[in-house]
Amino acid sequence: MSPAMRPSGRAVSRLADDWVERVRAASDVVEVIGQTVQLKRVGRNWTGLCPFHNEKTPSFSVNPDRQFYHCFGCKAGGDVFRFVQETEKVEFLEAVELLSRRAGIPIPERRPGERAVRAPLLEALDQAATAYEQWLADPECGRAARAYLEGRGLSSETVRAFRLGVAPDGWEHLSSRLAPKLGEAVLVQAGLAMRREGRSGIYDRFRDRLMVPLIGPGGAVIGFGARAFGDQQPKYLNSPETPVYHKGGFLFGLETARRHADAAGEVVVVEGYFDAIALHQAGLAHTVATSGTALTADQARLLRRAAPRVALTYDGDDAGREAMMRSLAVLLAEGLEVVVVDLPQGDDPDTLVRRGGAEAWRALRAGGYDPVEFIQRHVLRGGGPGDPREKALQMVVRLASEVRDTIRARLLLERASQVFGLPEAVLARAVALQRGGQGSEAPLKAAVRAQRRGGQDLEQTLLRALLLAPEALAAVRDRVELTDFQDDECGALAAWLWSGRADLPETGAEAALARELASGGSAGQDWVAEAVGAARRMVERRLLQRLKERKLELGRTPDGPETTRLMTEVDELARSLKELNAQR
Ligand SMILES: [Zn+2]
Repeated sequence: MSPAMRPSGRAVSRLADDWVERVRAASDVVEVIGQTVQLKRVGRNWTGLCPFHNEKTPSFSVNPDRQFYHCFGCKAGGDVFRFVQETEKVEFLEAVELLSRRAGIPIPERRPGERAVRAPLLEALDQAATAYEQWLADPECGRAARAYLEGRGLSSETVRAFRLGVAPDGWEHLSSRLAPKLGEAVLVQAGLAMRREGRSGIYDRFRDRLMVPLIGPGGAVIGFGARAFGDQQPKYLNSPETPVYHKGGFLFGLETARRHADAAGEVVVVEGYFDAIALHQAGLAHTVATSGTALTADQARLLRRAAPRVALTYDGDDAGREAMMRSLAVLLAEGLEVVVVDLPQGDDPDTLVRRGGAEAWRALRAGGYDPVEFIQRHVLRGGGPGDPREKALQMVVRLASEVRDTIRARLLLERASQVFGLPEAVLARAVALQRGGQGSEAPLKAAVRAQRRGGQDLEQTLLRALLLAPEALAAVRDRVELTDFQDDECGALAAWLWSGRADLPETGAEAALARELASGGSAGQDWVAEAVGAARRMVERRLLQRLKERKLELGRTPDGPETTRLMTEVDELARSLKELNAQR
C-alpha cells in the first residue's frame, strides 16, 4: 500500500525565492528550448537555428552544464527564464509561472487576491471530504457504500488512504452542514453546491454517490469524482472547472505516483479512478488515472516530469484501444517513451489485478508493445476497408510528424522500417510531406504496392515453373511450405499442386491463375532450374522474416530464460540463412 496521502487542506505557501529555484531546477534549459528549437548535440553543447534572428546556419548554442543559451549571431542569451520571457513575450514572474505549471510545481499565492479566492475553496473542499468520509463510516448512512467498496475488494486501509466517502441521498446534507460556517457562495464556487432556480438557497451537487476526492499538489483536495451506485446517469459525475480544479491539467493519483515513479522508471496510466485505486492497492503505486477524458498535452507534460516513460494500460476493448491510440499521439508528441500494455479482451486494469494481483499486470507489461507494434496489431485487428499495412503506416507517419524531437521521430521511423520492412527513407519522405501539409498517402501506397508486387511475383514465378516442369515438385515441396505463400490465390494453387494432383483446378480463382501462368511460359527455358531458384528465394524470405520477428521479440523481452531461447533461435536462423546462401 502506498503511503497515505495526507490532506493539508491549505495551499502550500512557500517563499517566492525558494519557488523560483525549484522551478529552475525542474526546467532543463536544453529540454525547454528543445521544445521550440531543433537542437543537435555538438560536443558538450547543443546547437540549432537561432529563434531570435533569421539564419540559415546554426549560431545558436545551449550549454547544459551552465544552463545558459547564447547566440553568436545576434548576441541573445540568458537562462531558461529569459528564454521563456523572450519567446512567450512575458514578464519574469509569468515566465516562472509558465515553467512552474509545466513542471507540475504548485504556484504559491503571491497575490493577496488570489489567495483570498483559493483558500476558502480549498477549505470547503477539505471539509466536504471529511464529511463524506464520516458519512461512509456512519453505521446506517454508509452501509450500502461500504458493501459496494468491499465488493470491489478495497481494503479499509485503501479507503482511508484515498479518503473515499459517500454523499447521502438528499438535497442538502452537505449544504446545511457547511453553509452556516463557510457561506453559500463558497460552496457554489467550489463546485459542491448549486443555486436553486427562482428562489434563494442552494442544494448539493453530489447526491447518493460514492465520493472520490481529487488530490492536487501538496495533498489538497481540489475536487471530486462521484460514482453512481445504481443506474443513475451519468455513471461518473466530476467537479466542474473551478479556480482550483482544471480537469485537463490534473491526473488522479499523481501526488503518490510521483514518489514511486523513480524506482519503476515509468508511470502507469489508466483511465478510471477505481482502476488506479485497485493498482495502488495491489502495490503498483506508480499509477495515475486520466479520469476517462482524452489525455491532454498538459497531462503529458506532468507525466514527463514524473518519469521518462509511460505504460498505457486501458481497458481491453475497442473503446480502450481507440483511446490508447489517441493518448499515444499526445504522449509521443510531448517526448515521452510509451509502452502499451494490451489487456485481454474484456479485462480492465481493476479486474486484472483483482484476479491475478500485481503479477498479472507485470506479466503483461513484460510483453508490452512499442507504439509501432501496437499500431500494427490495432489496425490488423480492426479490419475494415483498405490495406491494413497502408493504414498502419499512415498512422505511424502521422504520429512521427507530430514528434518535435528529431531523434525520437527518427527512432520511431527506424522501428516502423523494421516492423513493416520498408526503407526508412521512404518513411522519412512521407513524414516530411505530412509536416509540409501535403498528403503522405500516395508515396506510402506506392511503396507498399511495390513491396507486395515483389512478393507476389516470386510466388507466381515458382508456380509457373512448377506448372511447366512438374518433375521439380518433389524437391520444391520438401523446402517450401504452404504457409510461405502470402498471396491468397497463389496459396490456393500451391495447395492444389502440393496435394499431388496431376490435373489443373477448373473452378475458383486458382483455376484462372493456373491458366494464366501456364500460358505465359516460353519453351526452351530451364523451368526446373527456375523452380529451384524461386524455391530458394522463398525459403530465404521466410528465414529473413522470422529472423526479423525474433529480433523484435528479443528487443522487448526482459532478461531471463525467454531471452536465451530467443537468442538461440536467432543464431539458428542466421546459420540457416548462411547455409542457404552457400548453396547458391
Ligand atoms: Zn541569434
